[in-house]
Amino acid sequence: MTTRTEILIAGAGAAGLTTGIALAQAGFAVTVAGPLDIRRNGRTVALFEASLQLYRALGLWERLAPHSASLERIRLIDDTGSLFPTAPVLLRADEIGLAAFGANIENADLVAALAESARQTPGLTLMETNLVDYLISSEKVIARTSTGDSIEAQLLAGADGRNSLVRKWAGVGVKEWSYPQTAITALLWHERSHRQTSTEFHTRHGPCTLVPLPATADRKHRSSLVWLMRPDDAIRRMAMDDSALAQDIRKQTHDLHGDIGLEGPRGAFPMAGLKCLRLTSTRVALIADAGHAFPPIGAQGLNLGLRDVAQLAASLGVAGRRDPGCAAALAHYESARRLDVASRIAGVAALNRSLLIHEAPVDFARAAGLAAMSHIGPLRRALMREGVTPAGRLPPLMQRPRRQEKPAQAPVRA
Ligand SMILES: Cc1cc2nc3c(=O)[nH]c(=O)nc-3n(C[C@H](O)[C@H](O)[C@H](O)COP(=O)(O)OP(=O)(O)OC[C@H]3O[C@@H](n4cnc5c(N)ncnc54)[C@H](O)[C@@H]3O)c2cc1C
Repeated sequence: MTTRTEILIAGAGAAGLTTGIALAQAGFAVTVAGPLDIRRNGRTVALFEASLQLYRALGLWERLAPHSASLERIRLIDDTGSLFPTAPVLLRADEIGLAAFGANIENADLVAALAESARQTPGLTLMETNLVDYLISSEKVIARTSTGDSIEAQLLAGADGRNSLVRKWAGVGVKEWSYPQTAITALLWHERSHRQTSTEFHTRHGPCTLVPLPATADRKHRSSLVWLMRPDDAIRRMAMDDSALAQDIRKQTHDLHGDIGLEGPRGAFPMAGLKCLRLTSTRVALIADAGHAFPPIGAQGLNLGLRDVAQLAASLGVAGRRDPGCAAALAHYESARRLDVASRIAGVAALNRSLLIHEAPVDFARAAGLAAMSHIGPLRRALMREGVTPAGRLPPLMQRPRRQEKPAQAPVRA
């Protein structure tokens, strides 16, 4: 059987589902195809203000907010033991006029809530099936599902993650590299409050970060853990029982939150980077991890991916409603995303390498950078703004609505 749609989105992860909802709300007929992955593996995402604004604009934030904890402060602690020790740096959202930098939410909760919204969005069909191959021509794309059906579309958006099949079939060149690091993720309960502060310990093998999570009925203080370490240490720690691993985490985080325990399963993710030569090809746009990937440092991954989503919606709007896969729309998307994507990939790679390279000049430069951030207010605020609401024009869906002019006060009747 062949079904027809205007836009086919491969991948029902956070990026694919958000793209589907945004484009269906813009009036397109959209199909999102992909299995739903709502396994609990201790993985969360910190979403910054521009991403929250996207979810507010799409009317989704009310569904996501109850699962999330706000991030009002970020503390950076140099734990490398370098010859140039620096004092901890505290970044406060209110310094840049925000109540919070963003919010942290468990991946599984995010995907489940987006899938529920997708099912209720008019114009959007969610098919929980893999796409196995594609026929791409200048007029249309035909995708085959794992059940042998076909879907025909004018635009194929590849949101099928780091090992994107869409990218392969579209012939987009890619540069991939790996790091000698694995991230262990887990959800934790703890004795003391996180006080809405995310704390990053910068170690010689990468950051170990505790990010606030909301309270549950039985646990008042909770955080998620993202701990980058050597792959052999990750194998050893993944084999530990919960209480032994909790003790290790407590030691690594210098007893910051007091007694600690693990909640549910953990995850282990080998660290790698990926950069595409282009984000588009004939009738194809790549979105989020299908187009770029890097280690979770500074929580940039999905935030960057959601900027792709918001920009694709804007670029399709600019090109008009007639053909969402036309060359003009794709060229607009490509040129609007190039700089942001390239600068995030380079920035995260540089930060990560500055921890992994044990050389005095690199240590000195990192220490000088942290000290400057601590002491030079305008620099600190510029960096905070860049991390949360990046320079350059954000796509309209991510822009905060201008404050309404105060209506002139009606004259008071005597
Ligand atoms: C440990 C860790 C912590 C992180 N923390 C943060 C953070 O705090 N903040 C942040 O912004 N980012 C963070 N990231 C990055 C973020 O998780 C990713 O950028 C984000 O999950 C990418 O979403 P995606 O939808 O593009 O890809 P994925 O989540 O990989 O989803 C891709 C989807 O495509 C589907 N798929 C694959 N092949 C096919 C096919 N052939 N047909 C149909 N469907 C297919 C898959 O089943 C999957 O559902 C973190 C990453 C890691 C590893």
